[in-house]
Amino acid sequence: MKVRVALGSLAVLGLERLEMLEAPSTLYVLQYSERGCNALCAFCPQSAASRADKSLVSRVPWPAVDLDTVASALRSRKRAFERICIQTVLKPEFENELLAIVETLRNSAPSTPISVATTPLPRRLLEELKETGVERLGVGLDVASPRVIERVHKPFTWEEYLEFVREAVEVFGRRRVHVHLIFGLGESESEILSTMQMLYDLGAEIALFAFTPIPGTPMAHHKPPPIERYRVIQVARYLISKGYRVSDFAEVGERGTIAIKCPQLKDLWRAFLTSGCPGCNRPFYNERPRLIYNYPSIRLLKRNINVVRRQAEKAGLMLPELGLC
Ligand code: SF4
Repeated sequence: MKVRVALGSLAVLGLERLEMLEAPSTLYVLQYSERGCNALCAFCPQSAASRADKSLVSRVPWPAVDLDTVASALRSRKRAFERICIQTVLKPEFENELLAIVETLRNSAPSTPISVATTPLPRRLLEELKETGVERLGVGLDVASPRVIERVHKPFTWEEYLEFVREAVEVFGRRRVHVHLIFGLGESESEILSTMQMLYDLGAEIALFAFTPIPGTPMAHHKPPPIERYRVIQVARYLISKGYRVSDFAEVGERGTIAIKCPQLKDLWRAFLTSGCPGCNRPFYNERPRLIYNYPSIRLLKRNINVVRRQAEKAGLMLPELGLC
């Protein structure tokens, strides 16, 4: 069976040679389909609506590799990763193939936690995935507003995604379901804040991404969000994850933009790291080394903390003294 594996993960496995500014701490695997995913998401190079190179996911190349090759490389490097993440595509029989991939990789590295990132699935499959060894679930909601969901052609309705999040939290437990949200698909800042609050209230967590235009996709000419505004959304996500309510720290200004009053939190710098399952750092998924939206490591963030502070200040965000040491 073939799968796609993110280039950086292949390099950690010793299956590719690559100079990396930061190595991935997760083994990222995607189901293979020659024509990509049957969904029509307008921003995704895997979608059937896109003419983009099918070896891309966001900016990162994911070459096709034999699953057995990945499994045996993983067996000899059991401690190379903090997590394994298996992402689905919509295609006939993808559910059975997913179970087989989970089982194969779990047998190669039994102590490495596994996440599955997916679209809505029936509850019995969620339970089966949990029994097979999946520890956390990622949900590809992506859009942060019901206004935008049809415009970008997501394959399920807003209500279906939310029902799936509720059910996934029941099966996997609170804070073990990580909803993927992309900032910059056409939602307003106040919309993404209220969606984040609602998802945390449901017991989910959020993995935040910045929209990245990919040539060949229907949204190739749509602009990525300004980095300064992304800093505001990162801080808001972090504060919500720490139990602050949006109404306590944010005010809605003109055209739905947000002004945040930062509480004196010493570890607020963590807001600028990649968010998601523990051990998921997705290096350079959204960014070029010169414009980093999500920092994949404390080391890189530390090196760039003054840049981040200036970006935040440009958005009117006065950060407290950051206890980054
Ligand atoms: S947050 Fe990271 S590890 Fe978790 S499901 Fe999403 S991409 Fe996978």
